Amino acid sequence: MNLLELGAAALAAAVREGEVSARQAVEAYIQQVQASEPTVGAYLRLDEAGAREQAERIDQASWEERRRWPLAGVPVAVKDNIVMEGMETTAGSKILSGWVPPYSATVVERLVAAGAIILGKTNLDEFAMGSSTEFSAYHPTYNPWDPGRVPGGSSGGSAAAVAAGSALVALGSDTGGSIRQPAAYCGVVGLKPTYGRVSRYGLIAFASSLDQIGPLARTVEDAALLLEVLAGVDAKDATSVDEPVPPYRQHLDQPLPGLRIGVPAEYFGEGIDPVVQRTVEAALQRLAAGGAQLVPISLPHTPYAIATYYLIAPAEASSNLARYDGIRFGLRQPASDLTQLYESTRAAGFGVEVKRRILLGTHVLSAGYYDAYYLRAEKVRTLIRQDFEQAFAHVDVVATPTTPDLPFPLGSRSDDPLRMYLSDVCTVTSNLAGLPAISVPCGWAEGLPVGLQLIGPAFSEDLLLRAARMVEAVTERPRWPWQREEA
Ligand code: GLN
Repeated sequence: MNLLELGAAALAAAVREGEVSARQAVEAYIQQVQASEPTVGAYLRLDEAGAREQAERIDQASWEERRRWPLAGVPVAVKDNIVMEGMETTAGSKILSGWVPPYSATVVERLVAAGAIILGKTNLDEFAMGSSTEFSAYHPTYNPWDPGRVPGGSSGGSAAAVAAGSALVALGSDTGGSIRQPAAYCGVVGLKPTYGRVSRYGLIAFASSLDQIGPLARTVEDAALLLEVLAGVDAKDATSVDEPVPPYRQHLDQPLPGLRIGVPAEYFGEGIDPVVQRTVEAALQRLAAGGAQLVPISLPHTPYAIATYYLIAPAEASSNLARYDGIRFGLRQPASDLTQLYESTRAAGFGVEVKRRILLGTHVLSAGYYDAYYLRAEKVRTLIRQDFEQAFAHVDVVATPTTPDLPFPLGSRSDDPLRMYLSDVCTVTSNLAGLPAISVPCGWAEGLPVGLQLIGPAFSEDLLLRAARMVEAVTERPRWPWQREEA
């Protein structure tokens, strides 16, 4: 049996029963990492020794202990803006190079407590700012379906690792689309939970009112299983919410008869590549043929979403990134006085996109501009949230393309920030409104994957996963890139 073929639930069950050892699973994945990394570059750091140690711990545990681990022996990749005690964490930035966090994120602790094995840390756009992973200060990541194209971003390393079979599941973070857009570009499932569903403790902050951690997986089932482990209130994150965590996986195949799917006019048409639109529409038609109701709706403030997001996110980022002063973390440049130390460290440590965001954010928060930009953006954010509230009075979920286009060629947008920002046109609204959203593959065009996004009311992850499962059931998927290499 090729262990890479097993889903997370099946692998964990086999490890629990002792049919497969965690060590075997880890070795299979390490082998695949070695095969795929030269062309994909998903990881910033591998921890083979640590993974083998974790596997030993699982294999030596008693059956009594093991049977309580929902992710026993499941190899996971973690985005490198999520901290793990003792393992260098850079968030893709030079300014954090050499920084070894003294603690672990709550999500990492939960994974380990569930029997998962952390394989390593994945590549990302610096501080999660970007849509292509080209803005990593270390190296780009390549799309496993076509190495000439980007994997999306900012969780490009995590999405590419899952598609390349060099991790079974992965963690990403999503501030404006960074789980869903790379999931769509890499043909995997990616879920951004409701704001407050998953603890942010130990996530290196980008824009604190928008950031959420979530799963990337090959299947909806694996995403559901992972979310079950990650979700729940955490005393260390005051914005986490004490809502019960449903058994997402167990509910997956419960039917949703007559599901009302809102189809917002603003997300179809102008700005959307016709190939993507046709693929998404065809998937919606298949759902309708299965009994879902497609309901035309309007989310009228959508055209303002990109501008709103690119005011609020940089404003929060400029504040969050003020802590990188050359004294407390990572990089320190030589200097003769304190001001020079700040200046030279920040000049050398931050990349061009991060500097652009800091400048923009500082500007919109400064006296005289605050009311005109930041405050106004917060007001539009409320209007966007109200658009969704009104829609959910009539529909159960909203469906859109996840991205306006297919994965683009490397280098084709890195000098055009506005063009790059437009990649987020379909995803930023759910962050602004705090709503959960999932991207699920809904077809392949020109050999490249297309993602369908489902957005739901707050804490409706259960429903979203079930609806995404319906999309998966009516979508034919080609062999994975790692299966093709094998063939
Ligand atoms: N691409 C968006 C940005 O550059 C979203 C990033 C994210 O979700 N972390 O800000």
